[in-house]
Amino acid sequence: MTLEIEQFICRSDNFGILARDTQTGETALIDAPEERAILDAVERTGWTPSMILITHHHADHVEANLALKERFGLTIVGPAGEAEKISGIDRQVREGDTISVGKSKARVIETPGHTAGHISYHFADAAIAFTADTLFALGCGRLFECTPPVMLESLKKLATLPLETAIYCGHEYTEANARFALSVDPTNSALKERAQKIRALRREGKPTLPTTLGEEMATNPFLRWHDPVIRRNLGMEDASDEDVFAEIRKRKDIS
Ligand code: ZN
Ligand code: FE
Repeated sequence: MTLEIEQFICRSDNFGILARDTQTGETALIDAPEERAILDAVERTGWTPSMILITHHHADHVEANLALKERFGLTIVGPAGEAEKISGIDRQVREGDTISVGKSKARVIETPGHTAGHISYHFADAAIAFTADTLFALGCGRLFECTPPVMLESLKKLATLPLETAIYCGHEYTEANARFALSVDPTNSALKERAQKIRALRREGKPTLPTTLGEEMATNPFLRWHDPVIRRNLGMEDASDEDVFAEIRKRKDIS
């Protein structure tokens, strides 16, 4: 029960992702950012998607829905909480629902924050999670529709997944995220080392994703609201998790 992944850039910094169940060959597309880039990936791999797993309603994640549905006759799965904003949606899912891609099973995790209905998909047996614009490598999504405590709860949920879980995200934002992370956590040696690797990858035009939850727990400031060093750097030793998280998010917004 494992998934093979083809990850490719769409638009300027969105990721398109094809996830193929190795046992049956059934393939899901995670979000539908750009028709042309997706068709190229389908041709390159020979993996024809039978479904799209949508994470949230933003245009850069659903734009190719109808075109791909018409071409492949695929099923579009997406969050019940924002179904009316997702064109072509066939199946609405909620927290705890299970989706099968061949023999691979995903659990839906509601992760509101960036949008009010955003969901993530966790394939436990394959040890992969698709977190789109909720959890980024070294970052988290901007809070367009929710308050900081709502996003914090979503990140806390994701933080309970096994540390070895591979995390695939919606955008290649990692290099800018690393610069910001260093501004609030400059003495974290794991972060400094990672930032160097990220710069090297980007210089070669290579993606910085996937990451792992374990790597994020060690280096991503948006998962480190509890860290005494970050709290001291912010002058917030005794503040609540919510306040520390909100302060980090606010600083990133104006960085
Ligand atoms: Zn978005
Ligand atoms: Fe996005």
